[in-house]
Amino acid sequence: MAHELPALPYGYDALEPTIDKQTMTLHHDMHHGAYVKNLNAAIEKHPDLANKSAEDLIRNLNAIPEDIRAAVRNNGGGHVNHSMFWKIMKPKGGGDPSGPIADVIKKTFGSFKDFQTKFNDAGVKQFGSGWVWLAGKSGGEVQIISTPNQDNPISQGLYPIFGNDVWEHAYYLKYNNRRPEYLAAWWNVLNWDEINQRYSTFKSGKSVHEPELAHR
Ligand code: MN
Repeated sequence: MAHELPALPYGYDALEPTIDKQTMTLHHDMHHGAYVKNLNAAIEKHPDLANKSAEDLIRNLNAIPEDIRAAVRNNGGGHVNHSMFWKIMKPKGGGDPSGPIADVIKKTFGSFKDFQTKFNDAGVKQFGSGWVWLAGKSGGEVQIISTPNQDNPISQGLYPIFGNDVWEHAYYLKYNNRRPEYLAAWWNVLNWDEINQRYSTFKSGKSVHEPELAHR
């Protein structure tokens, strides 16, 4: 029983010029790969957790034995976050959203432009490593939040509709220290179809568990 690194759903160079091939290769193979390896190493110490999905592991971190809690938080979170991240991007993506996600963004933030400004601002202000999210709340509303390290909104009882990785490993080779430039460019590779699917899963009130996240 082990968690598995999902294959990238497109080529390493497919998100050029927004995200360069070397960044994608290192980010997927080495960084995400390490989260999966370290998560498996932690779970090996507690075989009773072997059947739980990564989402279920981080949903209630207090239920995780203390000796592996930090490892599960960081590496389970890293696995869940990056598995989402590859899928909510695509080559020739971007543009204005359509469908239900466009409606809720307009209703909540006034306009897509205002939403982008607030989202980017939250990403810039996240001190050090972390993520910026559009998260769903239990009442069905959405909000922008940022999280440190590999923390996922699931651990706060929120649904991760989509998020951007603001760790330096996500952008430093191409954008150097210019995180705002990376945040602004990132919208060009968004996969709104996938984001609409995630939003509809949230609205339908289903569990955030994604069976396609490889675990066997
Ligand atoms: Mn990352």
